[in-house]
Amino acid sequence: MAKLIIVGSGILGLSVAEYLTREIFQGIEIKIITNNHKFSGSKAAAANLATKGQLFARDSHFELKLHGKKIYKNWIHNLLKEDNCSLPIDTIFKNGEGIDYFTSSNNRDKHYLRVKQDDNLLKKKNLPTNSILKIEENKIKYLDESWVDAQKLLNILKNVLIKRGVLFEENNFSEKKYHEIIKDKKIEHLIFCTGAWTKSLLENLNIPLPLQMTKQERLTFGSTFFGDNIIHNINNNFILSEKISNDLKSKVTFSGIINKTYISSSSLRIKSINEVNLKEINLKNNIILELAKNNIDDSPNLSEINELSQLNGFRVGYGHTEVVLDKLNISESKFKAFVCTGAHKSGYLFAPVIGHIVQNLLFK
Ligand SMILES: Cc1cc2nc3c(=O)[nH]c(=O)nc-3n(C[C@H](O)[C@H](O)[C@H](O)COP(=O)(O)OP(=O)(O)OC[C@H]3O[C@@H](n4cnc5c(N)ncnc54)[C@H](O)[C@@H]3O)c2cc1C
Repeated sequence: MAKLIIVGSGILGLSVAEYLTREIFQGIEIKIITNNHKFSGSKAAAANLATKGQLFARDSHFELKLHGKKIYKNWIHNLLKEDNCSLPIDTIFKNGEGIDYFTSSNNRDKHYLRVKQDDNLLKKKNLPTNSILKIEENKIKYLDESWVDAQKLLNILKNVLIKRGVLFEENNFSEKKYHEIIKDKKIEHLIFCTGAWTKSLLENLNIPLPLQMTKQERLTFGSTFFGDNIIHNINNNFILSEKISNDLKSKVTFSGIINKTYISSSSLRIKSINEVNLKEINLKNNIILELAKNNIDDSPNLSEINELSQLNGFRVGYGHTEVVLDKLNISESKFKAFVCTGAHKSGYLFAPVIGHIVQNLLFK
């Protein structure tokens, strides 16, 4: 039996495996090798599916995200069914409104000018012009935001893959493992879905980096906080809310549903995965949590810091490219190797659509 190996069990690795095991790869053994790193970005994700009212794409990756959003609910619905999971879908995935809170109407208007899409273009494309609305004195409302429970989605994907016969091996993919694979004639495809570790792993294995990965690396380390019923001032429509500081330099994002709310923010830029300065990160987190407690108008409000749980993880992006999807140049072997990594802030938005793109790449 021919074999395909995916390295990494983050949201990208699991979603790629999910797509490939639907039909075409039946009869092929698929194995996921993962070291289940505690700082995997997917484990730390909030995971909001924010598109901030943007209705047409600025680039092909954004178009993929918009498409992912359209099919998300159906995708989750099918996964739940296959997993025989009786949880109501809206405890895992929900559409709703997003609201940004600013400290003044001046700040709000500055931001509005930056995010607003051209009304004429929207009309030309038969798209509504009300997806980003200024409301009251200091808020912007986004009509179509979504949220998915990251941890639950990872579990459901794993259950479904096990049911479909995907094998999981808990192991660190190293030079030794790579040389074993090169010798195994049955292995036809190897896909690296190794997130922030991809660049150093490929370098260790002496595999030339794909062009996109030679562009400037945006490597960050960040935290997500969460807890049950820790936020005041949220209603049933709540999905996403952002509070923006007075100097417009910090923001805090609340996402989720009433009884499971996540708090996140942009993460700290670092030079290498071996250089995490926890002191610096804690300082930044304190600023975020202070902002989360601040009262801006009737914004969501963090009540009790002590009851928060915290998850930390890495994210990576390259230049303006969100996901790097490419064939790797491996001269010495017959099998083909690929890379699927990146997705800096939005791996979960790519989840329902990434497998299709990878499949096209495998058969190109
Ligand atoms: C704090 C934080 C908040 C975020 N919030 C959001 C959000 O709200 N919405 C959103 O869409 N995205 C969010 N993201 C981004 C999102 O998490 C990433 O886009 C996503 O995790 C990328 O997934 P991945 O599968 O590429 O990488 P990862 O999740 O990092 O997975 C990499 C996998 O590779 C494995 N691996 C690495 N090296 C090896 C090796 N040598 N051998 C074996 N296995 C290996 C790891 O164990 C892991 O399983 C957030 C990220 C962070 C850090």
